[in-house]
Amino acid sequence: MGAKNMSQKLTRPEKICAFDYLNQNARQIALLNDAVFYFGELGMQEYETAGLLCDLLEENGFTLERNLSGFPTGFCASWGNGGPVVAVHTEYDANPDNSQKSGITEPASIVAGAPGHCEGHNANAAVMVAGALATKQAMEKFGISGRLKIFGAPAEEQLVSRPYFVRDGHFDDVDIALAPHVGGQFNVGYGLIQSALISAYFTFHGESAHAGSAPWKGRDALDGVILMDVGMAEFREHMQPQSMCQRVITQGGDQPNVIPKRAQVWWYFRGPTAQAAMSVFERAKKIAEGAALMSNTSVEIEVQSAVWPVRGNRTLAELVQSEYEQIGAPDWSADEEALARALQERAGVKIEGLARDVARMKGPATQKPASNDAGDVSWKVPMAKFYFPANVPNISYHHWAAGVALATSIAHKGALAGAKVLAGSLLEIFANPEIVQKAKKTFAEEIGDQTWYSMLPDDQTPPLDLNRATMEKYRELMRVHYLKERPHFS
Ligand SMILES: [Zn+2]
Repeated sequence: MGAKNMSQKLTRPEKICAFDYLNQNARQIALLNDAVFYFGELGMQEYETAGLLCDLLEENGFTLERNLSGFPTGFCASWGNGGPVVAVHTEYDANPDNSQKSGITEPASIVAGAPGHCEGHNANAAVMVAGALATKQAMEKFGISGRLKIFGAPAEEQLVSRPYFVRDGHFDDVDIALAPHVGGQFNVGYGLIQSALISAYFTFHGESAHAGSAPWKGRDALDGVILMDVGMAEFREHMQPQSMCQRVITQGGDQPNVIPKRAQVWWYFRGPTAQAAMSVFERAKKIAEGAALMSNTSVEIEVQSAVWPVRGNRTLAELVQSEYEQIGAPDWSADEEALARALQERAGVKIEGLARDVARMKGPATQKPASNDAGDVSWKVPMAKFYFPANVPNISYHHWAAGVALATSIAHKGALAGAKVLAGSLLEIFANPEIVQKAKKTFAEEIGDQTWYSMLPDDQTPPLDLNRATMEKYRELMRVHYLKERPHFS
């Protein structure tokens, strides 16, 4: 692909204006990408990150609604007037114990044990903000009407925020949505892309007792957790092939001489459809009740999040694909290629270097068992989730190797290219109202009679304490590594 494939569409003057803006701000995009990388904040605790993103959008003319749906690190930044209303949304959270030094092709933490970006959500943030600012610049200059709603979505790794945003009506006035995400290549698809998921805590309550001298006085909450686990293991045989469930025991007692009065297990229930995930959850509730009965304990069930399977709209996927082909893969240097190959070799994956072309559009895509909290948005309005090449291909995420390139020129070039795809797509949408009409029509055909409803309990509130203790433990140690320079777009 690359330059030779540039169609006349690129000569739209508003696109040239936006791309010039992005090229002129390339260093600011890199600074923003790196600033978020070094913040390395876990979901629900992205205070530095969301603060910086909000400030950058606000100082460039966007109207900010902070604390969206009660998420202290969630926001909606809007700009423009009239229609259509186009949403852009992405996540910016890191992972626990994933601190990795930039550019070093072996495990080397910045702060031992600390959280860090090992997927590339830092680049997501840079792409969303830069793409939005460039689009606004061009719309202002060329008098293009339409409204942008830029959503900062906390805690994607725990699939938390966007179902709340949709439930609370923040997408009611949105016509279509775009969701940029880091990847190893320009890549977009349509159809069902990811799976539905319900995340819930099962807390068993018993009664403590001295485990040695009077165990008959105790009612062991950990027994409830373990019996539920046994029941779920038996149930797995009878689940639909595309459904799955995973768990971690988050509380199992304090010490063996005390019968635990409280024990907790955190389950993820997945399915190809919202209903399939819900039916696994309904069975799990019964199993939990049975476990409580057997262990003479009680169980409390709390849903933390419930997301629909991410789907892609065909019209928007085709639009993004055409932007990909006009913009082409970044022009990687020999040093970048060498870093990618050394990393792929060290990580034991296929050694292919960096992507030099654009992936063919996946249609229909193959549905993955993984999930993303963008799912609810994708059933509410036509949406494209698209990938941009800011990380090294073939590397598994949530692993030290996936953090190596995220504050290097590979991520910087990939984020710049991703921001161009975002701005180019947005400007095409605003310049061609028929794209919105067509996307709505194909979306209606795609979803059929399956309209979106919230799987969250109506009164469910955001889990404000999620990851707080871990972040408090490491934040000051990480702060000394924060970038000294702050990005400024102009
Ligand atoms: Zn992600």
